[in-house]
Amino acid sequence: MVPVNFSELGLCDELSQAVADLGYKEPTPIQEKSIPYVLMGRDILGSAQTGTGKTASFTLPMIEILASGRAKARLPRSLILAPTRELAAQVADSFEKFSTYHKLSMALLIGGVSFADQNVALSKGVDVLIATPGRLLDHFERGKVLLTDVKVLVIDEADRMLDMGFIPDVERIVGLLPPLRQTLFFSATLSDDIKKLSDKFVSNPKVIEVAPPASTADTVAQHLVWTSPKGKRAVLRNLLRSEDVRNAVIFCNRKRDISTLVTSLKGHDFSAVALHGDMTQSARLDALQKFRDGDVPLMIASDVAARGLDIVGLSHVFNFDVPGNAEDYVHRIGRTGRAGKSGRAFTIAASEDDRKYLGSIEKLIGKPIPLIDAENNAEAASDSKAKPPAAKVRGRGRSSAATSPANNTVDATPAGNAPANEDKADGNKVIAGRSRGSRSRKQHENAPGELPAPPECSGDTLQDTGHVPAFLLR
Ligand code: AMP
Repeated sequence: MVPVNFSELGLCDELSQAVADLGYKEPTPIQEKSIPYVLMGRDILGSAQTGTGKTASFTLPMIEILASGRAKARLPRSLILAPTRELAAQVADSFEKFSTYHKLSMALLIGGVSFADQNVALSKGVDVLIATPGRLLDHFERGKVLLTDVKVLVIDEADRMLDMGFIPDVERIVGLLPPLRQTLFFSATLSDDIKKLSDKFVSNPKVIEVAPPASTADTVAQHLVWTSPKGKRAVLRNLLRSEDVRNAVIFCNRKRDISTLVTSLKGHDFSAVALHGDMTQSARLDALQKFRDGDVPLMIASDVAARGLDIVGLSHVFNFDVPGNAEDYVHRIGRTGRAGKSGRAFTIAASEDDRKYLGSIEKLIGKPIPLIDAENNAEAASDSKAKPPAAKVRGRGRSSAATSPANNTVDATPAGNAPANEDKADGNKVIAGRSRGSRSRKQHENAPGELPAPPECSGDTLQDTGHVPAFLLR
């Protein structure tokens, strides 16, 4: 099949230029399938996971549609509803990038940031309003926004809205919109519940499915590690050291475990930030920014906070806990292996409940998750003070001699800061070293207190043999 280009989908030259500036060579399947229908004015019922280019599939044609016309004060011309602040902010980012050559105005209404600034934006009139349901209703109740001029409505991540209990708010908002409008309804999966729900919002929609429900991308190599509940942190640390981790999201099931894990990792000289729904908005945005900028390579996150996040080039996802909801597994590992890049996902299992959850996950994804053996992982298996196996340096090729504790002048492990049960004899602090990487890159590799520069090739450097960490192989 000959690939189409963006202008063949009916987009104007300015939009084709904007996507070319971003390095997009051709539309993704969801873009190819939905853009022409959105431009025709059809409602859409779209099933696409994040990472498929879904955002551009609705923002690009919306810009085209809104290019003619002007917004009046407090009467937005289109509305995009997203379940979380992060997702809404991400859509706003994309919108800004795509509309470089258009003079469209936008407002982002999310909780945790100044009401006053949002109010000023609304008072000037906005072409595109991007909002989470709660904050939009707050503005509506204060009489700061009217929705009677909305011509295009997008409901993004509808399945998440359902999970998070936002549907009554969404229904209320939709009741404030004119009945004659175009509605684009997107969900990661089109379950029966979602289809039933969509009936309330869309009319005679074009149904577009780009991936079978809950399939995992081929670009993500999945692995499973079994250990004891006490061994989980040690297994994680060894994976972090042995894998060529550029940046990783580590998922926990419970919010309270997130801070414990952050503290534990920091105690072992890893650099990590937390991201969960109980943090203030500014703390969440700050953590995300540090992670996106590469200042902190590890983000320990909950499902709600990390759902739909688009972190460009994420190398790894770790499930510190097996998710209780099989679909969450698909979403979690879908943070990596995006936009054609390859990624790696590791799931750490430790209990009978986990076995049950894994059963549903494997049923949903239609294949077993390949098991790697943690038995040879001395640290994890015994929870002892034993040093992790020496052969741990991969990819970046640091020599083990150069990075052994004795030679590594960086030892930020505060004695007594690490959790009681854990081994403090960490050898190679690859991620921790990288976290200082921006500083070390600027100053120079062998600055005092920094890890030495990676040798081009060293006899004691473990070669990147492929995929499964050597010490975990049977
Ligand atoms: P999304 O599914 O909308 O979250 O997009 C996932 C990632 O794919 C984002 O980083 C987009 O910038 C990128 N992307 C979207 N469309 C394309 C495209 N046609 N070509 C290359 N990258 C794209």
